Amino acid sequence: MNHNIAILPGDGIGPEIIAEAEKVLAGLQADFGLSATLEHAPIGGAGYEDSGTPLPDATLALAKTADAVLLGAVGGPQWEQLDRPLRPEQGLLGLRTELKLFSNLRPAVLFPQLAAASSLKPEVVSGLDLMIVRELTGGIYFGQPRGIRTRDDGQREGFNTLVYSQGEIERIGRSAFEIARKREHRLCSVDKANVLECSELWREVMNSLADDYPDVELSHMYVDNAAMQLVREPRQFDVIVTTNMFGDILSDAAAMLTGSIGMLPSASLDSTGKGMYEPIHGSAPDITGKGIANPLATILSVAMMLRYSLDEPALAERIERAVGKVLDNGLRTADIAAEGSNTVSTSEMGDAVLAALRNG
Ligand code: NAD
Repeated sequence: MNHNIAILPGDGIGPEIIAEAEKVLAGLQADFGLSATLEHAPIGGAGYEDSGTPLPDATLALAKTADAVLLGAVGGPQWEQLDRPLRPEQGLLGLRTELKLFSNLRPAVLFPQLAAASSLKPEVVSGLDLMIVRELTGGIYFGQPRGIRTRDDGQREGFNTLVYSQGEIERIGRSAFEIARKREHRLCSVDKANVLECSELWREVMNSLADDYPDVELSHMYVDNAAMQLVREPRQFDVIVTTNMFGDILSDAAAMLTGSIGMLPSASLDSTGKGMYEPIHGSAPDITGKGIANPLATILSVAMMLRYSLDEPALAERIERAVGKVLDNGLRTADIAAEGSNTVSTSEMGDAVLAALRNG
């Protein structure tokens, strides 16, 4: 089956790291039977320069018809003075909304070869491989009413609404159960059901979904305990599913367990499994054009795309194995370099992954 992939390099180091991800895709096409059509379009600052808007119509149309979207990064100081709707980030937010991407997958994987990069002890964190599934379009960040008002007693007060419908909870729940099925079949739902009615419903719905996924072991954890367990014994988790705000906080904490921002991919999925894949880092203007950016987060985003949107799990594993081999061989970009390692450029790292893919 042929897959249509929209490639949106974006700004800053975006084009540099996407070029390396494309080397890997070309390798899979040439040697491992991947059938894919790649089409490129500008987004973010590049979109603004091209058509005066961070999300040009043609880019949106391409993303809508594609089976999956691979994005580099957006943003840069040259566009910070623009009116908010014209700023690069609006391109990304617009794409998430237009494509109805409600399920945000943030893996935290620590390759054992990089255990020293974590702030936790290697024996606690080496081999960490967990996935946080965060609800992305609902909850307290979007709930109405919201605002700042003045009470009768003259005090000003700020207020937000935490609200999830049964349908919204079911949707993210099913997405997470399906992901657990592609991993170790363990799902931990994180809530605050001891205090929040919204969480009470969340827990009830997760329990009712569990009947449809008898092969997945469902557990529950309060968010304060989950925060503690993430730094105490993070390897106990396989997949975590949680609300927008809890997921926002826990996924950043989990990312930092791995030490390097240049290593972590992410995905945002809709209800059909179509998704947008991107590294968690930004456009890194401080190192743009120097040829030193780490392309591995983007290359690992390709692996996620193959697993979660294109149903090519064997090819996803090939990429992950190739990245492991390259690290075993001591190759490191500057951001993950340690004493005794061989520091390579962005394109040398891409070439090394491609060579490992072919040999493995
Ligand atoms: P950043 O992630 O771009 O950079 C933070 C630090 O990490 C920098 O020192 C950078 O050099 C380093 N870094 C990031 N990616 C790296 C890589 N692959 N290899 C080696 N080092 C890497 O975050 P920032 O500096 O806060 O933001 C810069 C720009 O990116 C801003 O315009 C911001 O709005 C944008 N941004 C975009 C996204 C996105 O596109 N999803 C996410 C975050 C920030």
